[in-house]
Amino acid sequence: MRVNADLCTGCGLCARQCPARAITVVARKATIDESQCFECGVCERSGVCRSGAFEAPAELPWPRSVRSILSNPLTEFKETGVTGRGTEEMKTNDVTGRFPAGILGVAMDVGRPNAGTTMRAIGKITAAVAQAGVDFEPKNPVTFLMEDVPAGRLRPDVLDERVMSAVIEFTVDESGLARVLDAIRGVAGQVDTVFSVGIISRVRDDWSIPVLAELERLGHPARAESKVNVGLGRRC
Ligand code: SF4
Ligand code: SF4
Repeated sequence: MRVNADLCTGCGLCARQCPARAITVVARKATIDESQCFECGVCERSGVCRSGAFEAPAELPWPRSVRSILSNPLTEFKETGVTGRGTEEMKTNDVTGRFPAGILGVAMDVGRPNAGTTMRAIGKITAAVAQAGVDFEPKNPVTFLMEDVPAGRLRPDVLDERVMSAVIEFTVDESGLARVLDAIRGVAGQVDTVFSVGIISRVRDDWSIPVLAELERLGHPARAESKVNVGLGRRC
């Protein structure tokens, strides 16, 4: 993102909108710290600048474009056709049947506005869970940024890019849940941001959700349907 200094009046309103805290006003002009900017576009889209001083570049060079792909929900990742950070319908699995019984879908949401993260931190997580034997979702943007998918290794040229957040998506056989959780526990201390772990499983015909008991047994009690998406599923 750029600021047209000729238009900026130095009012400072945009600094409060920036989720990366990348904007400061120096000598009555807004200045963007490019190393911190997520390229999320919030400053421009919010309309907070009455002077219209924000100018989003028509196209960002690689690998800076990774910031926009993972931080601006309006940016489409052309290579995968996905807008936003993850693929659709993980959370409506009982309608779409994306994951059959016995297979768990896992979505790790890494980073948040105001915290952010780096691709390097994300790469530490992907490498750790890969060791546990997972299958990464091929259409997910993070998977696309891997140079070695089975190893969960990200391309080295993207590692220094800072993003608002990213979703790591993979599947694992139910029997591999303990390995995955151990891997996540092991890497958590090496990641300097917050993350959550969502586990998607098929509800059985008797309405039971076996993974809940397994999570309890493994020391990670979870709440069923902790996130409910209404209206996104397709009729089957
Ligand atoms: S809101 Fe616009 S005019 Fe005000 S400091 Fe930011 S860029 Fe400058
Ligand atoms: S694009 Fe996003 S991160 Fe960058 S200056 Fe604007 S609001 Fe801040």
